[in-house]
Amino acid sequence: MSNLAPTPTAEACAGEPTAAPTFEALPGRLTDLAGLPIRRLLPRSARRLVGPWCFLDSYGPLTFSSGKAMDVAPHPHIGLQTVSWLLEGELLHKDSLGLEGRAVPAVLNLMTAGRGIAHSEETPPHGSGRLMGVQLWVALPEASRQVAPSFEQHRELPRVELEGGRATLIMGLLAGAASPARSFSPSVGAEVSGEPGRRLVLPLEAGFEHAVVPLEGGCTLEGQPLALHTLYYLGCGRRELTFVATGGPCRALLIGGAPFEETILMWWNFVARATEEIVAAREDWQAGRRFGEVGAYDGPRLEAPPFLARPVPRP
Ligand code: MN
Repeated sequence: MSNLAPTPTAEACAGEPTAAPTFEALPGRLTDLAGLPIRRLLPRSARRLVGPWCFLDSYGPLTFSSGKAMDVAPHPHIGLQTVSWLLEGELLHKDSLGLEGRAVPAVLNLMTAGRGIAHSEETPPHGSGRLMGVQLWVALPEASRQVAPSFEQHRELPRVELEGGRATLIMGLLAGAASPARSFSPSVGAEVSGEPGRRLVLPLEAGFEHAVVPLEGGCTLEGQPLALHTLYYLGCGRRELTFVATGGPCRALLIGGAPFEETILMWWNFVARATEEIVAAREDWQAGRRFGEVGAYDGPRLEAPPFLARPVPRP
């Protein structure tokens, strides 16, 4: 996915981890991605990073009878990984390495942009006519942000079975399990699934900061009812989380990680450290350099929006 309507200047994003457990509700901001209504949960002015997670959009549930629910034409990325995770439907990734990956529920599409890649994401033909999912970005740390671009798909992810439900580990580490997905800093991303009326206790890494986004159904977290389409920032220092599904089954996304120590600059689809890098990446995209072409995509690519390369105040 793509950040289609960026601010004209870059945004400096730094972690502001709360050392002790906290409970902050940040309702998602309703916006639009090429005609698809989405909710932006990160970055928000009140919270820009959770561990290395720097971007989080959720979309759907959506039912459509014809056409494409999602069609994001080829666009470039640098300095990040994109994590596409579906709860319903199908999405087709195509990239400038010549790779394609059809994502379906419980299958992870992970793209490491490193020094530069281009990709498209679209609803494939002959699908279910449904779409619901999340897209996240992970900021790459300084030591890894120039790695060669890559794309990987994971169909076998660890499932942590717990009393009252389970967690599917998408990225990183959880309860002694490790995701096979390529990761560059200590983190966790998991889908938590609770059975109706039962109590689920999820063990956590106390050194991580965490956030939870309810995706489906009703549930309480630490006794507090959660609203859909809201990010709950939970701070550091928690050893466990208690979910109770109220009514039907519930699903929620858990993200977290060691507090990210670097201030990143975000603009459009780029994660950088300096405005000069953003200027160079934008010029390379416009000139057809560095990122390659997404040959398998049928249609024009996205043009970069205008960028004002003025100094960005540090947060
Ligand atoms: Mn993208």
